[in-house]
Amino acid sequence: MLDADFFRRWMTVAAASVDREADRLTALDAAIGDADHGSNLQRGFRAVTAALEKEATDTPGAVLTLAGRQLISTVGGAAGPLYGTLLRRSGKALGDAAEVGTPQLAEALRAGVDGVMALGGAAPGDKTMLDALIPAVDALADGFAAARAAAEAGAVATVPLQARKGRASYLGERSIGHQDPGATSSALLIAALEEAASG
Ligand code: ADP
Ligand code: MG
Ligand code: MG
Repeated sequence: MLDADFFRRWMTVAAASVDREADRLTALDAAIGDADHGSNLQRGFRAVTAALEKEATDTPGAVLTLAGRQLISTVGGAAGPLYGTLLRRSGKALGDAAEVGTPQLAEALRAGVDGVMALGGAAPGDKTMLDALIPAVDALADGFAAARAAAEAGAVATVPLQARKGRASYLGERSIGHQDPGATSSALLIAALEEAASG
């Protein structure tokens, strides 16, 4: 079972991973966006870890809700509200359970992904974070390693796609041939689950 400690670890590992990969995320965004995805998420996840140190979070749901709120309030641009919605919705779906299993986590993330689609209007194949998140949630029943592999494959599979949402869509066909920054950061977020579970 996964408790609040696990979820705090998930957010801390994700923050460290975003720190480590910020330059790569920004370089990907430089190719098809405005070169701020790494710094956007870095600012957001630093705020998340700071808030988790300051505020008590007793349940998995409370951890994700707090994290989501921080991302929404500190990250400008598309990714902040979208990731914030993902985590806040997922947190809400977990309710006030003290511990949750992987199936409940998958169900909660599914609700979070639905929130991202409702807010941003993107569908699978539009070359966005959804192209990593949806395969990951689908694979979660097979474990964290399977979810990580699915998210990474989903991110790589955005390369030949033409962007239909967000800034990259302004480029039209010129967005083809580049990996989507948001799908790449989503793969980091999912990979952090596996690392949090092993730590
Ligand atoms: P901005 O484009 O405002 O500078 P970021 O660079 O931080 O924001 O984030 C860009 C990423 O956000 C994209 O790579 C894409 O994955 C994701 N994104 C943009 N628009 C949408 C949307 N409508 N739905 C889902 N994801 C989106
Ligand atoms: Mg950007
Ligand atoms: Mg921007």
